Amino acid sequence: MTLKEKIGMVHGSGLFRNDGVERLGIPPVRMADGPMGVRQEFHNSEWIPKNNDDDYATYLPSGSAIASSWNQDLAYRYGCVLGAEARARGKDVILAPSINIIRSPLCGRNFEYLSEDPFLTKTLAVSMVKGIQKNDVAACVKHFAANNQETNRLHVDAIVSQKALQEIYFPAFKAAIKEGKALAVMGAYNKLNGEHCSQSKTLLNTVLRDNWHYDHMVISDWSAVNDTIEAAHSGIDIEMSITSDFDEYRLANPLIRLIEKGFVKEEVVDQKVRNILKTMFKLKMIDHLDSRSKGSQNTKEHQQIAYDIATESIVLLKNEDRLLPLCQNIKKLLVIGENARAIHANGGGSAEIKALYEIPPLEALKSKLGKQCQIDFVPGYLVSVPEVGESRHWQETSLETTVVDRDDTSLKTKAERLLLRNEAAELAQKYDNVIIFGGLNHHYDVEAQDRSGLDLPYEQDELIEAVLSVNPNTIIHILSGASVNMERWSSKAKAIIWSSYNGMEGGNALIDVILGKINPSGKLAQTFADDLSAYASHSVGEFPGKDKVHYLEETDVGYRHFLRQHLQPSFGFGHGLSYTRFEYGDFSYSHQEEKHIFAFTIANTGDINGMETAQMYVAFPNNITIWELKGFKKVTIEKHTKAVVSVSLFEKELEKYDENSSQFMIEEGTYQIAIASSLKDIKHVFTITIAKEQR
Ligand code: BGC
Repeated sequence: MTLKEKIGMVHGSGLFRNDGVERLGIPPVRMADGPMGVRQEFHNSEWIPKNNDDDYATYLPSGSAIASSWNQDLAYRYGCVLGAEARARGKDVILAPSINIIRSPLCGRNFEYLSEDPFLTKTLAVSMVKGIQKNDVAACVKHFAANNQETNRLHVDAIVSQKALQEIYFPAFKAAIKEGKALAVMGAYNKLNGEHCSQSKTLLNTVLRDNWHYDHMVISDWSAVNDTIEAAHSGIDIEMSITSDFDEYRLANPLIRLIEKGFVKEEVVDQKVRNILKTMFKLKMIDHLDSRSKGSQNTKEHQQIAYDIATESIVLLKNEDRLLPLCQNIKKLLVIGENARAIHANGGGSAEIKALYEIPPLEALKSKLGKQCQIDFVPGYLVSVPEVGESRHWQETSLETTVVDRDDTSLKTKAERLLLRNEAAELAQKYDNVIIFGGLNHHYDVEAQDRSGLDLPYEQDELIEAVLSVNPNTIIHILSGASVNMERWSSKAKAIIWSSYNGMEGGNALIDVILGKINPSGKLAQTFADDLSAYASHSVGEFPGKDKVHYLEETDVGYRHFLRQHLQPSFGFGHGLSYTRFEYGDFSYSHQEEKHIFAFTIANTGDINGMETAQMYVAFPNNITIWELKGFKKVTIEKHTKAVVSVSLFEKELEKYDENSSQFMIEEGTYQIAIASSLKDIKHVFTITIAKEQR
């Protein structure tokens, strides 16, 4: 290959592709976003949608939704759909899943991410990757690494200890690569300990290539390469960006010039090309073309999977007086709230989807309750977004730092909101059955900007309080990618349901839960607290950082910090109710090589079938105040029956990173193992001892 041919492969020559080498039968690598489905087609060099009619996609539940299903099989099936649709659209790489840790509830991309917990994130990420790649499409796990805030995301320097990286921020990437065999990794925009991730020698050469032996493709985030020499000598293989001056990308002509002048050796390019080609062979892009998966798009099966995931990701936070499920024979229902009719697929940033369809809750209610029920709707609150006056696509401007004001708080809007609120409260007293659909939308859960606080926007607190004061039996549904403040009304509400962006079938799934056709089984994959200062990143650490952000909380991310500080969340990690009751019993322990097995029974003592996720937490000898998730199992249990469940604790999960020796080690001593229905609801505690000779 000539230098020019090789250079063509190591940088974008379209917004979502590099160059192939036609002479040698090497096609370009075609990529597409993203985590909720295959994004629409853009023109090659402009952020202008092609407006094709064949790029409508299955809109899948977002990462934070899938995580709250705690179901590996669903994560796998999610991957299968995403991979199949990517392949059907002729893609080689799908820029998903997004597996960064939820460090603060305010990060704008939390809805894409899975969880605050590394074990849950990595377990589901591995399944997602396997599902995607079954279709001869590379999963591109992103954003490596410590991309935990959107504020100043292009340049913020995350200062993170080795221990926190190895135990919290790396495990999902490492597992996706080692166990999931991910064929692509996206370097993040931000800096990590002083180096930009997408050209970092420490991160990409030492950690990824040398330590994890990763030898497939590394792609930069779009415009995350800042320096030609740094990038040339780092483990990045393809530089992608958002501008159309492809030949001037840092790994294009500038690199050729440096090679010609002798500042960079051509071998570094050879290595990148080798990594790319190796990945392309794996994807059957160069040989075995005939046996390459053809994929499939918008099938009934894909829609069914979207529905199945959605049903299991809905979390019943509170249900007093058995307010839920709602009787299916009700005659009159009042529906309040913009989120009852809002469409979310087309927002969020690069995760946006041109969905084939999306069923909002109001539409689902109408089709499911039919004519026998009178359904009345009032908006209750006003979503009013200030005009930006920007005609360019957001991604085209994504290198400019813009802070968009997301809510219009003018007096006029406030007055309109008061009227809507009064109208809703007035009506709510006249109905036996009232549901409020509120929460956030993609003006808040969005790439490139963090939320400024936990409060619900659009004066929804006032609305919910007003409605509850006249009708305490109102059911509240909150949609958000992460925690929101519910303090003003959560103690007064009897029934609260939470879900994240739940895909095209989200409305159907939600209404089936509300009507009891589906027994809810989702559990929180993030800690919900009303007070921002309860979160470690906001109290002992920093969030968001401007130039630097110090992760002073170290490994005490999410619930770990709540445990250490004895803080009570509003709804804790792993929490989620069911319409039936589960009783745990008959605990027993056995030990096989490399794993400890905890067995027990779970009885469904209620009158309907249900699903329960048993969780296993470990307290380490030198850290007994903290439980850490190290295993879980979701099971279906028919009414009045008992299931025998076993959860394995793999010895390698007991490893902790020792900064002195830069190695993972298992400490000898006594470990406590809790079997729980949620972090707060521990059913049994085992004790095991690890002796020196076992290590
Ligand atoms: C995002 C990536 C995305 C890329 C391409 C960037 O702004 O951070 O997640 O894959 O754009 O759209």
